[in-house]
Formats: sequence, structure tokens, C-alpha cells
Amino acid sequence: RASLNKGNSWLTYDLRNLLPGETVDQDALDELETQLLLSDVGVDATGQVMHRLQTLYDGGRLRTSKDLGKSLREHLGNILAPCEAPLEIPDDVQPYVILMVGVNGVGKTTTIGKLAKKLQDANKSVMLAAGDTFRAAAVEQLIEWGERNKVPVVSQGSGADSASVVYDAYSRAKARGIDVLIADTAGRLHTQGHLMEELKKIKRVLAKQNADAPHEIMLVVDATTGGNALQQAVAFNDAVGLTGITVTKLDGSASGGVVFAICQKLGLPLRFIGVGETVDDLGVFESEHFMDALFD
Ligand code: GDP
Repeated sequence: RASLNKGNSWLTYDLRNLLPGETVDQDALDELETQLLLSDVGVDATGQVMHRLQTLYDGGRLRTSKDLGKSLREHLGNILAPCEAPLEIPDDVQPYVILMVGVNGVGKTTTIGKLAKKLQDANKSVMLAAGDTFRAAAVEQLIEWGERNKVPVVSQGSGADSASVVYDAYSRAKARGIDVLIADTAGRLHTQGHLMEELKKIKRVLAKQNADAPHEIMLVVDATTGGNALQQAVAFNDAVGLTGITVTKLDGSASGGVVFAICQKLGLPLRFIGVGETVDDLGVFESEHFMDALFD
């Protein structure tokens, strides 16, 4: 299975430096707070964890760095646990529609390819809709990927109306008895207002065909962008209502803290993690596994 690099601390600071087996003092707690903030854990999640640790420290229950490590792991883990909710695709829905959203460059197209492969490996038939009609390269990239992996791709070329591509794809997927339709969408950032309107239109058009569709609106964010990933999650959730999040590029060192920030802020299911550029580098998010990669 795809996994995070163990021991390759994805906080910007190696926690082991902070936990050298000595007595914990207020300076160590203050330093920890700074490092969590520098690691994009976010003000709210950091505040929540530090409040708990400070209470323990003040009560004389955080004496050694071993205590600190244990409590830190426990309270960071408590933030993530509610977001562990793997994507489950019911057998009696055809097609199950996944709308993929996110800004350019985060790894959306790559994630679509990885996800299609994962679903096929689980014996689901998959169709893709090339809904990022704004970028010719995005349509080509998806078609190429589909050809290589024998996954049908519905497209109308660049410049077409994105909602119409997705509408068309839904009809075809329905007619062919496809299990899962994954729709790509545009991710241009400089016209964000239009982007959100376009996504809302796709939702409206799909709902006309099936009131339950899209069944999943999944945001893809790039962990290495830190606070930007959190901002994107908030903006997309406000505009279109997300049902799941995939965080990519967690294989790079010094990234991943933002996962805590996103989970604490939005409480949405973290579905998958991207841990590399190849098609098998997509893992199901498991909070314990994620914590292990940080602490072990
Ligand atoms: P899009 O613009 O959001 O569709 O982004 P792409 O799918 O084209 O990906 C942008 C770049 O990020 C490509 O070079 C991908 O190979 C790379 N990428 C995507 N996901 C991951 C990941 O999980 N880890 C790493 N290291 N690179 C990734």
C-alpha cells in the first residue's frame, strides 16, 4: 500500500530534537508551539493542542520529554481521528459521481488517474469526464491517461462548456452501466468567482439527472503549500460544499502539518493522501498511520 516515509518528519521540525529525554520546562513548550505554527498546523489546531499540554504541565503531569511526546501524539491524534472516513461507494448506485475540484497544480489530474486505478483494482468500472475545458493541456492529459489505462474519457475539447461535458458524461456512464464517473473541473485561480459559478452550474446540471449527484465533491490540495491549502479548503467548502478532501505531495519532507489545520477547521472526511507521482502512490487516509509516520 502507498505509505508515508517513516521517520521522515513531515513537520518542518524534527520532533525528536524537542524530546531528548530531558525534563520539560516552559521553554520547551513555547518552542514546541512555535514549531507547530511553523509547520502549518495552524493557529486553531496549535492552540487547541498547546492548551491541553499547558494544563498538563501546570498540573505537574508533564515532567519528562517522554510524557510530552506521548501527550503531543495523543492530542494531535485526537484532532485527526474524526476526519478518518474512507470513501465508500455503494454497489446500488450507478454511476456514483465524484466531482474533483481544486486549483491548478495541486495534483488533481494525477489524483484522478490514481483514483481511477484504485477503483478498477476494486473491480469498479470507471469513466472520466474532461471537465477542465479551460486548459487544453488538461483535456489532453486526461485523454492520454485514459488511453494508456483503457478508461473511457468523455470530452468536448477545450473551450467547451464544462457543465455540458459532465452532463454528457453522466448520460453515457448511465447508459453503459458504469460504476463510477470521475469528473475533472477547472482550477484557474485568477478568476475564482467564475470558477465557483462554473462548479455550481455543474452541480445543478448533474442534479437534474440525479438528485443525489454529485455523490462526492472532493477537493484536492497540495500539502506543500501550507496555509494556502487551508485557505483553499475553506473557500471551496463555502462555495460548493465539500464532502471529502485529498491531500497530495505528502511524500515531500516538511509538509503535512496543514492536514491538522484542515481537519480541525473543517472536520471533513480526509479521503486519500498522495505520496508520490506514480499511479500507485495514493493511500487511504488513516489517522493512526499518519501519526506513526510522524512519531515513530
Ligand atoms: P493539476 O494541475 O492539479 O491537475 O496537477 P497535476 O496532476 O498535473 O500535478 C502537478 C504536479 O504535481 C505533477 O508534476 C505531478 O506529478 C505532481 N504530483 C501530483 N501528486 C503528487 C504527489 O502526491 N506527490 C508528488 N511528489 N508529486 C505529485
